[in-house]
Amino acid sequence: MKSTEIDLHKELKKYFGFNKFKGLQEDVVKSIISGNNTFVIMPTGGGKSLCYQLPALALEGTAIVVSPLIALMKNQVDAIRSLSSESGVAHVLNSSLTKTEINQVKKDITSGLTKLLYVAPESLTKEEYVNFLRGVTISFVAIDEAHCISEWGHDFRPEYRNLRHIIKQLGDNVPVIGLTATATPKVQEDILKNLDMSDARVFKASFNRANLFYEVRTKTKNVESDIIRFIRQHKGKSGVIYCLSRKKVEEIAQVLQVNGISAVPYHAGLDGKTRAKHQDMFLMEDVDVVVATIAFGMGIDKPDVRFVIHHDIPKSLESYYQETGRAGRDGGEGHCLAYYSYKDIEKLEKFMSGKPIAEQEIGYALLQEVVAYAETSMSRRKFLLHYFGEEFDEVNGEGANMDDNIRNPKTKVEAKDQVVT
Ligand code: ADP
Ligand code: MG
Repeated sequence: MKSTEIDLHKELKKYFGFNKFKGLQEDVVKSIISGNNTFVIMPTGGGKSLCYQLPALALEGTAIVVSPLIALMKNQVDAIRSLSSESGVAHVLNSSLTKTEINQVKKDITSGLTKLLYVAPESLTKEEYVNFLRGVTISFVAIDEAHCISEWGHDFRPEYRNLRHIIKQLGDNVPVIGLTATATPKVQEDILKNLDMSDARVFKASFNRANLFYEVRTKTKNVESDIIRFIRQHKGKSGVIYCLSRKKVEEIAQVLQVNGISAVPYHAGLDGKTRAKHQDMFLMEDVDVVVATIAFGMGIDKPDVRFVIHHDIPKSLESYYQETGRAGRDGGEGHCLAYYSYKDIEKLEKFMSGKPIAEQEIGYALLQEVVAYAETSMSRRKFLLHYFGEEFDEVNGEGANMDDNIRNPKTKVEAKDQVVT
């Protein structure tokens, strides 16, 4: 189909069953269909997949989608297949395929059946695949989780650095689409530079979560009773408590249980069955609280999480934003409470000390931003959004009074001398 002939709303309804585009989706889709290099920055849950899936389904040829996680690719391929009568409409190309399977994939691509081909970045370096893809019609290359290209991102993957080189081999002027939920200007710069797409049309959604209330409390030896009091004030509500270590997770979960709060632990040290059980108990509201390491939350989509507590401050503001972002998905109340002590910062610094120097330097710089956020007396929302390169009007902006500093102005917190357990 020619790009000018595509009725986007009809395609949206036909393939996805949605009546309306979300946020910037329509503009992004138009940009991709017109063949522009395009860069999309949207928070998690913003609907980035559809931005490239819809154009891929509507345009001639096959879109190549680079994604870092095999499980994620499989999910997407299953979802696309369920929208179509042809299972060949989407394929994953990875090292686990048999010769016969690879031939089927190639056949479906050559015949024009396959609209989306998901590949892991390391598979794309295989000469056999590159040679094959050079001979077929490619609509565009989409690079999901594009922050993996940057050392300043939270998930740097060296294989992503080769992508530009490989894309150039696939043909002249294949449009490139980068997508990420990492909003810091440094990471964005890295992505545009590494993908050699300074000409890209950039679409950046706001990262402001106006319904979330941000609060930082100084962490003292009474932190546990403070948390218990907080939870009792939010009786019957769902919440997540993040801790740095598995040991702390177990400890806090137990303290809560002893105090009559229904809570379960969640961390990577528990076996898969227990983890699944605890996650389900939380989703089904058999328990109110999950005490967890960061292993919890990938793909958790409980809309009515009413509070996210950080017993330990995380290692970057990106992590903090991601983790607190699990509160108030339904637009309702979401209280984000972080406990802060400089001792915890020193602990995090110590974790980094074994790493390569370049990594350490980045780690320290990210940590200093966490310190500045915790100790600031200005609008926390303004601080966070500024960190993500976004202006915020702290007087009239949406959610302007939704943080402790604005509600109860106070002098600067100096947590250096606090006692911590
Ligand atoms: P992201 O990759 O940005 O984190 P996803 O692409 O996974 O987000 O989409 C998040 C959710 O939003 C999915 O459940 C998806 O079905 C839904 N979604 C996307 N676009 C729309 C739309 N136009 N209308 C309604 N729901 C949508
Ligand atoms: Mg996504």
